[in-house]
Amino acid sequence: MKTSAVTGLRCVRCSRVYEEQPDLYTCLDCGIAGILDIEYDYDRVRVELNGETLASNRDANIWRYLPVLPIGRNARLPRLQLSLTPIYEAPALARELGLAGLLIKDEGRNPTGSFKDRASAIGVTRATELGRTTISVASTGNAASSLAGFAASMGLQAFIFVPETAPEAKITQLLVYGATVFTVRGSYDQAYYLAMDAAQAFGWYNRNCAINAYLVEGKKTCGLEIGEQLRDNLPDVVAVAVGDGCTIAGIGKGLVEMKELGITDRVPRLLGVQAAGAAPIATCYRQQQSYALAPTFQGSAAATLVPVEARTVADSIAVGQPRNATKAMRAVAATGGDFITVSDEQILAAIPRLARATGVFAEPAGAAALAGVIAARAAGLIGSHERVLVVATGNGLKDIKSARKAVGQPHMVAPHLADVRAVLMAMAASV
Ligand SMILES: *Cc1c(COP(=O)(O)O)cnc(C)c1O
Ligand SMILES: [Zn+2]
Repeated sequence: MKTSAVTGLRCVRCSRVYEEQPDLYTCLDCGIAGILDIEYDYDRVRVELNGETLASNRDANIWRYLPVLPIGRNARLPRLQLSLTPIYEAPALARELGLAGLLIKDEGRNPTGSFKDRASAIGVTRATELGRTTISVASTGNAASSLAGFAASMGLQAFIFVPETAPEAKITQLLVYGATVFTVRGSYDQAYYLAMDAAQAFGWYNRNCAINAYLVEGKKTCGLEIGEQLRDNLPDVVAVAVGDGCTIAGIGKGLVEMKELGITDRVPRLLGVQAAGAAPIATCYRQQQSYALAPTFQGSAAATLVPVEARTVADSIAVGQPRNATKAMRAVAATGGDFITVSDEQILAAIPRLARATGVFAEPAGAAALAGVIAARAAGLIGSHERVLVVATGNGLKDIKSARKAVGQPHMVAPHLADVRAVLMAMAASV
């Protein structure tokens, strides 16, 4: 019996609609480019998910949005908790940047330390619903550590492919959670294709977000949350770091659905932020806009996406061959938003700036979203009267090596008060 409000899966390229079926990942006509998008009967959803039901729902986690998730009512849910993440005001930093308001949504607080937990929670639930006992993913790092954690909580076996250059902390997470880990001598893009082949060859459930439409539904819970948490007080712009593109697409979908469900009355503009050394989506979007086609972007239009060799300190968005560019560009275009690129220096500088203004320590990709806001404000893409929400997608402890590049050294002292005094005097003299 069908217990979710899913009506079908639509190809973003040719619009063919499919019924739900266990091993359908991409469109049978379009192949790998035919990413699917899950559709719902919103009239049915609205009965169970509206302002009133939300107000009386005491579950402060993503399962409060179950009526608009592709999960059956009787599904076994992961024990690992995905609580709602806080949104902080940063008034002083807003003033410095010439903004009417700056909000930070701290996704580093999720159980394994990144936004990816939202997708993994759906992935392991879906795999379990389908009776699968193994699940696999290729990842720049966070999707992997997240999947490993959620697989552990559900008793699934996880097979993980990461580039050998992934930060130490993320690889350690994988091993601690008991996943089978393959560090691939190659780029993330190569790890991705290897994982795809392996999942097919060995029959694993594939958690790769780009091709598994169910995962993006997990990512959209961030947009649903923003809508519910801010309602009448929505920001004008929501800034998100972009690698493959599923994160921004998911957040956009959640924000649109909150309006669809009558909980909010508008949708903020999305600002996609890419690292200058890995910016194929931003480049393509800009090109598309110059043909004045962006507002009606349908994914197969004039500008073609040119893959690059990704080079950036922000490992989580070091994607040269993005798999979800179409969904990302459509989501941004639908909101009248834009893409911007930032240098590694700008990304690193944003780490202590964010931490000192809010207490939120973000990894480079998380801080990149703030760097993008600073750049967009300077470029006039964001006005001084506007309020902006930055999604800080990952925890800073995941990559301390990069963070150390952005800050000074501690004061080394002998265990004597005199040494401390000398340092303080030197500090006082230098101001
Ligand atoms: C994965 C990730 C992103 C980007 O998500 P995509 O879906 O690849 O665009 C941004 N920030 C962090 C911390 C991530 O782990
Ligand atoms: Zn298709």
